[in-house]
Amino acid sequence: MRSKSEKMKRLRRSQKPQNQPADSPQWRVGIGNDLHRLAPGRKLILGGVRIAFDRGPVGHSDGDVLAHAVCDALLGAARLGDIGRHFPNTAPKWKNAPSLHFLQHVRELLDAAGYRIVNVDATVGLERPKLAPHIGDIEKKVASALALKPGQVSVKAKSGEGLGAVGRGEAIRADAVALIEF
Ligand SMILES: [Zn+2]
Repeated sequence: MRSKSEKMKRLRRSQKPQNQPADSPQWRVGIGNDLHRLAPGRKLILGGVRIAFDRGPVGHSDGDVLAHAVCDALLGAARLGDIGRHFPNTAPKWKNAPSLHFLQHVRELLDAAGYRIVNVDATVGLERPKLAPHIGDIEKKVASALALKPGQVSVKAKSGEGLGAVGRGEAIRADAVALIEF
């Protein structure tokens, strides 16, 4: 006799999204990254949290590298394209939109495709300022935009050790991975 969980698994596989091969696993992973140039007088926003600093990312939107990297990781996991496809910088709808709205929209796309987010992990590369005091707030905001519990989102910070564009304080970058299930 088949167990209830086996029946559930079969039911879920029969409901899987169309872009899913028949023998594919139940889990999917995605990767995303983003890099923006830093310039004086721009707001520094990470995961929707405003951080006091004299420089910020240059970009069409608010330049929230963390939100952008997480969007790409989630879209990649679901094989739904990338952030440039869903939020083209020519679209007036998204001009000056807070990047947290990008995250909310990506979550809706995944919902519609039948996916559930398991967890998100990200690292932000920034020489200054120190992000440690803001990490808790950033995790909460990202989790809330994705309708997740705070424990499902991890954000870490790393300086550039004085090397490369991040280390010279010329750029901010973020790398993210996401696990989703269906
Ligand atoms: Zn970006």
